[in-house]
Amino acid sequence: MRSFWSAAEIMGLLLILTFWAAGCGRTEPVQKNVMVMDTVVTLTASGEKANDAVEESIKRLKEIDEMASAKGEHSDLKKLAAAAGNGAWISLHPEVFHMLAVSQEYSRLSDGAWDVTTGPLVELWGIGTEQAKVPTAEELAKAKAKVGWQKLELNPETQCARLREAGMSLDLGGIAKGFAADEVKKIYEKYGVKNGLINLGSSSLYALGKNAKGESWRVGIRHPRSEDKDSRLAVVALSDGALSTSGDYERFFERDGVRYHHILDPRTGRPADNGAVSDTIVAEGSLPDAGMISDLLTTTVFVLGPEAGRDFLEKLPPAVRGMVCDHKLRLWTAHGFQECLQQVQQDFILAK
Ligand code: ADP
Ligand code: MG
Repeated sequence: MRSFWSAAEIMGLLLILTFWAAGCGRTEPVQKNVMVMDTVVTLTASGEKANDAVEESIKRLKEIDEMASAKGEHSDLKKLAAAAGNGAWISLHPEVFHMLAVSQEYSRLSDGAWDVTTGPLVELWGIGTEQAKVPTAEELAKAKAKVGWQKLELNPETQCARLREAGMSLDLGGIAKGFAADEVKKIYEKYGVKNGLINLGSSSLYALGKNAKGESWRVGIRHPRSEDKDSRLAVVALSDGALSTSGDYERFFERDGVRYHHILDPRTGRPADNGAVSDTIVAEGSLPDAGMISDLLTTTVFVLGPEAGRDFLEKLPPAVRGMVCDHKLRLWTAHGFQECLQQVQQDFILAK
């Protein structure tokens, strides 16, 4: 019997072990950052075709940015606004049509707290731009008169839309990132990526499977009133679903001690002032359009305010859970969301 292995045998064994580890998919996850949709997007993916999945996703995000914003000369939104009030139907990309169809459903459910026809108000306030200002009462009344989801007409048969009055325009800023997260998730699935994180500027995320440690992804929710951007309200574990957060700290300006932020209440025409400072919503991956729904719901629930927002969420299927943080840092949770919260910071308490 011999007690030593030859160098060739050891090399052979090492080779076998290397192939075995590769076969188990123990490759480093791919991670790329890209500036798109006015935010820093971080895409993380594992698996053999992770790199292809991430590259295709980046291309797709750029396409969605063009399609869902009014930036492009030939964008659907530009065409709709240009034809507003003249009766003509505008043919839309099927994706834009889908966003609008889902959007209209939630406008109806929320009685107009969610409304993509807020374009004239978004433009008027200019929050997040160099032209941000507090409008006069007259300007506000004029812009508000152009807002109303019932004045956006959709024809599912022809995939066309029209805006009933001149001066109307659409803004997809509260839904496009969620839609984009759903699209990237589909690309990940196409390439067999089972574990990955799609992070669109931390306000809209989609998690698939587990992180590199084999655990659920852990998403930090920003403390809405801390100067320190890294300070957390809590951490949420996520393994298959979309998570969105909206807050009055994202884009705002201050005038005479008042904070004017980017989430507008279509009923007043002004930044929503119903007691919410931030809200977070998780939609399970089993829901179609989970990313889009979690994104649009954070805006909706923020507008409704803590208690009404929580009650609104309670009426939706339990696959949608969430919380609203009010200005006293009380957390109004729906469908048992408090159970999803870890490491809740001591500044926060659960609302009764
Ligand atoms: P972000 O994630 O970029 O911070 P949110 O998801 O919180 O944005 O959505 C806010 C954006 O939605 C605004 O910048 C504006 O474009 C749009 N918006 C504001 N108020 C409403 C509303 N009541 N209904 C629909 N869209 C809105
Ligand atoms: Mg949103």
